[in-house]
Amino acid sequence: MPEGPTFAEPAATALLLPFAGSRRELAEYETHGGYGSLRKAVGMSSQELVDEMIASNLRGRGGAGFPAGRKASFLAQAEPRYLVINADESEPGTFKDREIILRNPHALIEGVLIYLWMIRGAAAYIYIRGEYAKEASILEGAIAQARERGYVGAPLLGTDYVPEIVVHRGAGAYICGEETALLSSLNGDRGQPTAKPPFPAVSGAFKRPTLLNNVETVATVPTIIGMGGAAYAGVGTEQSTGTKLFSLSGHVQRPGNYEMPLSATYRDLIEVVGGGLPEGRSLKCFVPGGSSMPVLMPEQLDTGLAFEAVVAAGSMAGSGAVIVIDERTCMVRFALRTAEFYMHESCGKCTPCREGTRWIVELLRRMEAGLGSSEEIDLLLNICDRVEGNCLCVLGDACAMPVRSHIRNFRAEFEEHVTLGRCPCPDDAPMAELYPPLLRAPLPMVTV
Ligand code: SF4
Repeated sequence: MPEGPTFAEPAATALLLPFAGSRRELAEYETHGGYGSLRKAVGMSSQELVDEMIASNLRGRGGAGFPAGRKASFLAQAEPRYLVINADESEPGTFKDREIILRNPHALIEGVLIYLWMIRGAAAYIYIRGEYAKEASILEGAIAQARERGYVGAPLLGTDYVPEIVVHRGAGAYICGEETALLSSLNGDRGQPTAKPPFPAVSGAFKRPTLLNNVETVATVPTIIGMGGAAYAGVGTEQSTGTKLFSLSGHVQRPGNYEMPLSATYRDLIEVVGGGLPEGRSLKCFVPGGSSMPVLMPEQLDTGLAFEAVVAAGSMAGSGAVIVIDERTCMVRFALRTAEFYMHESCGKCTPCREGTRWIVELLRRMEAGLGSSEEIDLLLNICDRVEGNCLCVLGDACAMPVRSHIRNFRAEFEEHVTLGRCPCPDDAPMAELYPPLLRAPLPMVTV
């Protein structure tokens, strides 16, 4: 997980992260205008705040990109209602919410308070990834500061509304980043997805109407309320407004989190702010939005970072994790490592995912060991087709989509493993640079 520098260029303004340093202390955050948007929001009605969000056209930053204002407008009116923040950031390659919490936790807390006021929520629960122990402690420290200052646990800024925020630590299951699994876990049940309907807006936390949003989405709200929804919509593209954080990793000179306007391109991110690939290396492909997304090829570097541009290029913007892959990397091995992760994290509730991810891993292991056949490459594609779109949640798709993409774009490499009866690029160093050791721990073999 790189902890590289965070740059704002070529964004005109760093809307979310300060250019350098951190604003972890409440006093410092207030010095920079922090909690000013909350004061402004308290003078507005719920409908005015929802309208401002709709005017901003902010799309959720958790992966799906659903318009945040419209989502807020769907919330059932019955009381009590809850706000839940998804801080269960687990998609391989993604580490942006972590940086918001580490460097600018009060932006998140201010966003939570504005959201709570907007929906008059009974409480907010921040569900944070189990492995984020340091981040959970920083968040709790920041909430304690806000409580001491009277923003939390006391009548809010002269009103009779008392907001409450609770940090709830998960136990390290990737699937709890899926909204229904997260809510099941929060409710004390097994952390597995459930069928929709009912949707969280009707029955979520404690079976009550719940608005669930990602950390970055909520941390962006103070900026939107501060500058106005229409002004925010002036940054980025018409369909993808504002700036967004991108986690840049892999074979790139300056890995780290970068705040970019959504009108920029992958070339701006990888070559300009990321410094390009190390000397002497060339780009083989890149993952545009988290390990579950189909890769894009070097000739697609000028694709825009906007949600609609990535879809038009044949992939998805997802969580904003961009993984740069150089020419030394074996794509069979990369597909295998990715599939092993999803097989390991499958909750086992539905058959196409539970069985399909294991079949995919087993066939890729045979292929990487030089034991596969051309027919097995087609069988892999067939299994991907049977998994994708046939599972209760998107984890099955998350395994099938990248594997299919790797075969379609690099079929000759898969065939070469068959012809040679071994992997043509046995050097494991490129893979070690892409995925940290924890994700590469040996898993038990599965017999097909
Ligand atoms: Fe569980 Fe996989 Fe089915 Fe999702 S798709 S419910 S993770 S078995």
